[in-house]
Amino acid sequence: MDTCVYCGKSIKQVDCKVKVSKKKYIVCSDVCCENTLKYVERDKKYKKVMYLGIFIPAVLILFNLLLEQGMKLVYLMQVVVGIIFILFPYPNVSFQTFSSVSVRGVIRICRILGIIFTILGLYLFITV
Ligand SMILES: [Zn+2]
Repeated sequence: MDTCVYCGKSIKQVDCKVKVSKKKYIVCSDVCCENTLKYVERDKKYKKVMYLGIFIPAVLILFNLLLEQGMKLVYLMQVVVGIIFILFPYPNVSFQTFSSVSVRGVIRICRILGIIFTILGLYLFITV
């Protein structure tokens, strides 16, 4: 059975399709169609922000560890990465990946990871 690319609901009768980079994806409603297009647009704009937001802290952490500057900056960078995950949930390299996990599912996973990262980072930053 087909599933909606945005919310993951199974669809018996295909009424709506959304076109993303020359390929058509099935959606269950106009709302999901709109949300998918919005996601694609934001994904294009902010994917680089997400990758940079992970790359820069990763480099800083590496230097921090090499220079043995303690763990404070590492935990702070963990918080930064967590916030990036919450604000910019665009981890997929291509839209094709959404056939296995829905767009909404990916956003959810990203945000949950982001929240865990942020809380854990803050906790470590304050306590260690
Ligand atoms: Zn849907």
